[in-house]
Amino acid sequence: MGPLQIKDLLQETPESQSVTLKGWVRTKRESKNAIFIALNDGSTINNIQAVAQPGQFSPELLLTVTTGSCLKITGKLVESQGAGQTVEVQIEDIHVYGTADAELYPLQPKKHSLEFLREIAHLRPRTNTFGAILRIRHTLAFAVHKYFNDRGFFYLHTPIITASDAEGAGEMFRVTTLDLDKLPRTDEGAINFKEDFFGREANLTVSGQLEGELGAMALSKIYTFGPTFRAENSNTTRHLAEFWMIEPEMAFFELEDNMALAEDFVKTIIGYALENCKDDLNFLQNRLTEEEKSKPQNERSIPLLEKLSFVVDNAFEKLTYTEAIEILLQSKPHKEKKFQYPVGWGIDLSSEHERYLVEKHFKKPVILTNYPREIKSFYMKLDDDGKTVRAMDVLFPGIGEIIGGSQREDNYEKLLERVHEVGIDPETIWWYLETRKFGTAPHSGFGLGFERLVLFVTGMSNIRDVIPFPRYPKSAEF
Ligand code: ATP
Ligand code: MN
Repeated sequence: MGPLQIKDLLQETPESQSVTLKGWVRTKRESKNAIFIALNDGSTINNIQAVAQPGQFSPELLLTVTTGSCLKITGKLVESQGAGQTVEVQIEDIHVYGTADAELYPLQPKKHSLEFLREIAHLRPRTNTFGAILRIRHTLAFAVHKYFNDRGFFYLHTPIITASDAEGAGEMFRVTTLDLDKLPRTDEGAINFKEDFFGREANLTVSGQLEGELGAMALSKIYTFGPTFRAENSNTTRHLAEFWMIEPEMAFFELEDNMALAEDFVKTIIGYALENCKDDLNFLQNRLTEEEKSKPQNERSIPLLEKLSFVVDNAFEKLTYTEAIEILLQSKPHKEKKFQYPVGWGIDLSSEHERYLVEKHFKKPVILTNYPREIKSFYMKLDDDGKTVRAMDVLFPGIGEIIGGSQREDNYEKLLERVHEVGIDPETIWWYLETRKFGTAPHSGFGLGFERLVLFVTGMSNIRDVIPFPRYPKSAEF
């Protein structure tokens, strides 16, 4: 089925066997004695070198073999004469599927800025950097499914269109088929959503959790892995308007089990990438080292592979929110008034606080638990003191929050009280509340933002560079 991929060809023993290559030209170099074409088909970061003799092909044909052009090459696989590769192809025939005008093709073989590459997101997968990122992203996604499948979790497809806004009031994208120029009105003059497609207001989901819980109350262990939408206008390097979230939900898991699962899960999938993406990770590590050369020694970060191994090999630090506040109150930046935001029990930690704990104080991933009820969602289980909830956030160096989760409130009366407290109309989530009436069970779960994980593993610094086609305020071009 199809030609051998370049990844596999590079592993073949060269015996002058006939091979066919299909791919895009990265570079073409002509010397007195030979013409060298480096071809890449995206199966690996490594190119295969194909060699032709001067005069073997017409100048007209060679003119169309440009950087970015797409070729079929047939020839013989032989031991490489040059350094840097073990095999190369002696070209017998070249077919040009499509040339790329050298004047117009934006991806010339030189260094382009990540900002520029975002403007040509239709072509950036052809660069070494984005090829590496996309292959790593795939490997991580595969590892996620493998992890859960190996442990008896079921992949539950939660809806993308939702009529409940219990979770994300204000941050949701509306879904409608109403004619915006001729909106139907009620007698009171409000928009009449009864005439909309679903007969009610509908939005894109901000989380699959509520429906995920319904699945866990029947299948015991489920996970979701799907697109998630948030219309938050946060132009940060850690937020997208469309991202992918992984949300396991488990019956009979208490907070401690939930923490253990979260830690084992991220370690295992990072370990899987370390095993299976060696070439790409090495490339990204070198890229980062190169980039940081201009920085003074003490500001350079530890090499990517070392950072990933460190996370896999060391226990995460676990402490309560209350203990974290104590540490922050005693910290140098707090005492010297270097934090932008104030510190005190009850605050929602900002990313500068999270990063102080992770990067300066503990120097490793941290799991914070038992946050004040006022700053967490209504569905989190109340602690016995009534002041805190059984929440857990996993904080990562360079990223801040990578996972948010909790044990869920399984007591009907307590949950209903919280629903009223935060001003949600119980009628809109009657189905969620009913699980606490019919065979309720202790259960827990968490949400991991997939792109934040890819950000960490690739060592990239902007979340817009770890998803093929990023969506953010004022940007949905591709
Ligand atoms: P933050 O405070 O960083 O905005 P959050 O508290 O809104 O995060 P949750 O609602 O707990 O996050 O979502 C679960 C996970 O989804 C987060 O831990 C994070 O990894 C990821 N996440 C949340 N919002 C975004 C976003 N806009 N883009 C990408 N990932 C996100
Ligand atoms: Mn958020």
